[in-house]
Amino acid sequence: VTEKLYYTDPLLLEFDATVVDAAADAGRCRLVLDRTCFYPGGGGQPADTGVLAGGRVVAMAEADGRIVHVVEPAPAGLAPGAAVHGAVDAARRLDYMEQHTGEHLFAQALKRAAGLQTVSVHFSDDDTAIELAVESVDERVLREAEEIANAAIRENRSVVTHEVGPAEASRFPLRRAPPDDERLRIVEVDSFDWVACCGVHVPSAGGVSLIKAAWQEKMRGHARVHLLIGRRALADYGRKIALSQELTRMLTCGEPDIPRRVRELLDGQKEAARELQRMQAAQAAVDAEAAVSGARAAAGAVFVSQVRHDAGPEYLKAFVERVTAAPGRVCVAIDQGAEGFQWIVAHSIDGGPDLPGLLRDALAAAEAKGGGRGARMQGMGGRADAAAGFARDVEARIERALTEGTL
Ligand SMILES: [Zn+2]
Repeated sequence: VTEKLYYTDPLLLEFDATVVDAAADAGRCRLVLDRTCFYPGGGGQPADTGVLAGGRVVAMAEADGRIVHVVEPAPAGLAPGAAVHGAVDAARRLDYMEQHTGEHLFAQALKRAAGLQTVSVHFSDDDTAIELAVESVDERVLREAEEIANAAIRENRSVVTHEVGPAEASRFPLRRAPPDDERLRIVEVDSFDWVACCGVHVPSAGGVSLIKAAWQEKMRGHARVHLLIGRRALADYGRKIALSQELTRMLTCGEPDIPRRVRELLDGQKEAARELQRMQAAQAAVDAEAAVSGARAAAGAVFVSQVRHDAGPEYLKAFVERVTAAPGRVCVAIDQGAEGFQWIVAHSIDGGPDLPGLLRDALAAAEAKGGGRGARMQGMGGRADAAAGFARDVEARIERALTEGTL
């Protein structure tokens, strides 16, 4: 049986030990020691990483009280009886101890604030979350739970463990039903919280520093509350301050005025976009008049064709509307972009051709798509270099239809 130093002293992160068993395989070594500070994982808390006998501990396992360290690369010449030195990755372990202990505190606080029951906990390198047996948690309940949990931190309540059998466990007011094991490890935050847990915790609640409920989401009908705990909360506070300072510099205002300044900028941007549209429409009207005065007359109609580059949809629409505002006109307007072209074809000829039927082949030839009915169609073409040919083809088909009277 490996002596579990991580339980007797969770703050001990470097140690000397004696090899009990060593098996090398494919560049890795499975090491069993007489004692270890490496936590093998469990209770949602991942296994420790670190350095052991000069190699990296990359995985761990526990079976029949023996804790196996998978070390890579395999240290040379290790046999039972050899002395080894190990060092757990301290920042990562301390972080997870804070996360785990903080989760106990907040789960109990939610129970006290609103009788909420935790159904599962989730720990990863950048997120700690608890899932509750309700669809959502009222924000006031979260604030009250924060008060309760952070009070337990300020009171620096000690964290103690009780190794007991199931019968003895029943004398503790456990927050959650314990697993069906012969020996239970009850983790108590002094007179505040009791739960069966195999994780590693800070020695007293003060080690957690701070708990903040950051946000919640609904998953499979359960509220999942994401928590910022300990040094992660401090790091997040640092990021928030940096963000606020950058915004106050960019917006030249104090922090409380940031939302108002952003709203002003967004309103200004919307107004500028509307003004640009008005100007594009006005320009389109001027261009349309010029195009009409120089336009070709044929088959009793005036043919106006316009190919522009990146003029925008508002321009195109206004151009066509202006040209076809007077009767007897045919208008083909195209806006070319890098990816293809936008087009509108319309006419203002009384009893003129039905465009969708007339232009079906022209669209296919130019690999253009679009729709419409009667005297107006619009759409887009996939190939920018087909735009000018498309315009000529459309004009020719409309002119032929007018000439032949095949309306
Ligand atoms: Zn725990």
